[in-house]
Amino acid sequence: MKMARTLPCLLLLVSGFAQAAPKQPNILFIFTDDHAPHAISAYGSELIQTPNLDRIAKEGMTFERCYVTNSICAPSRAVILSGRHSFHNGQMTNGDVFDGSQVTFPKLLRKVGYETALIGKWHLKSDPTGFDRYEVLYGQGSYYNPRMKRDGKEVKHVGYTTDIITDLSLQWLKEERDPDKPFMLMSQHKAPHGRWEPALRHLGALDEVEIPEPETLFHDHSGKTSSASQHKMGILEHLGDKRLMLQYSSQFTPEQFKVFDGYFRPRNEAFLAKRDSMSKEELTRWHYQRWIRNYLLCAKAVDENVGRILEYLDESGLAEDTVVIYSSDQGFYLGDYGWFDKRWMYELSYRMPLLVRWPGQIEPKSKNRDLTSNLDFAQTFLDLAGAQPDPKMQGVSLVPLLKGRDQKNWRQSLYYHYHEGGGHGVARHEGVKTARHKLIRFYEKDEWELYDLKEDPKELKSVYDQPEYAKIQGRMRRELDRLRKEYEVPTSVYQALK
Ligand code: CA
Repeated sequence: MKMARTLPCLLLLVSGFAQAAPKQPNILFIFTDDHAPHAISAYGSELIQTPNLDRIAKEGMTFERCYVTNSICAPSRAVILSGRHSFHNGQMTNGDVFDGSQVTFPKLLRKVGYETALIGKWHLKSDPTGFDRYEVLYGQGSYYNPRMKRDGKEVKHVGYTTDIITDLSLQWLKEERDPDKPFMLMSQHKAPHGRWEPALRHLGALDEVEIPEPETLFHDHSGKTSSASQHKMGILEHLGDKRLMLQYSSQFTPEQFKVFDGYFRPRNEAFLAKRDSMSKEELTRWHYQRWIRNYLLCAKAVDENVGRILEYLDESGLAEDTVVIYSSDQGFYLGDYGWFDKRWMYELSYRMPLLVRWPGQIEPKSKNRDLTSNLDFAQTFLDLAGAQPDPKMQGVSLVPLLKGRDQKNWRQSLYYHYHEGGGHGVARHEGVKTARHKLIRFYEKDEWELYDLKEDPKELKSVYDQPEYAKIQGRMRRELDRLRKEYEVPTSVYQALK
């Protein structure tokens, strides 16, 4: 493979051109669902060790300020594919169907010689387009024995889905792709999205560990507008029996069921026998420990599988020529503010993990603190490949940042817009973020919040309309107006959705 790909470069040199042809690296995008940066040890998590994800950080770059444009699963994916905001790519909510006829980065990569594949979670309802090969979960998929759609046909698998997605990804890398072409593989996990069913090998692995509670587990939202209090994502009130694994979601084989149920049933029975006599505080704590352990074990399986992929890249000699990217579609509340789920523009569900390894190009252990976004991913991948972006794309290539170049003119603010409304009680909102401040507008109620992230990093008390913040508030409102114009936000998005 190396021969075939370096040959044009040699020919150019022989024929007297001083300029070497750009080499097209392979692009391996490992993407998960709902994996919050504060559940990754490279981001300083106190909840879990993720040695394989940390390896990408140690050998590459950690983006500390990467943010999603719309903190919800399908819209985040559509933004990554199209490089356009939700209100332009059409995927504003999880309920929309992705328009697969639009320009996406995989289609443009194919035009410059890449072989493209998508394996795992897709979640965009329409069939994938722009891929030489795809095999995707139906909808959200299940943690065990997933049904998948392979190039239009249904395939059934037996096993743990996080392992299976990696098996299929490795199979494509080893046996199925064209070794003479550079590749772009999207290996995308359901994990650690709900409902959180750990692998059989991990059952009980955290039983002896008391997971630290977030400081805000019993937070009362008193420093925010009315919107936050109307949430339906409470650890106490809204997790419900299925998310707490008091009922199971997957279809197990008899052998799997014996082990899975053998673990949970006695523990569930012991809990149910005392549930009615527990205080709200005791119940909150029990819910948190039960749920967070399962969430973290689902993330642990992801980390192990990332390790398998990295090992294969080493063994095969592909590592040197492959850019490895790890990210997840948004962050997640891990009991913070008493919540699970995402959607809000508050930091913990707004920020995304982004780790990138590119041997010889990225300084190992480097960290970037520029304001970056999933809006930038498409143009970054195209830039890596030496392909031109589509003129309608709205992001910026991160390649100069990866190469450690000082970007004096880098953006100073980000625009956010959550369109779905209703889901888990989160009102639709838009906002602007700078390195230090954040302005949020819940436009259906005309409620505003302003945070000073330096003084109040946990965003506990809005300072909107406080006299000492008058100047900043004015500046942030003008910046919000400017971004609306820059991104051409249509006025129709502020009207009630059908
Ligand atoms: Ca998600």
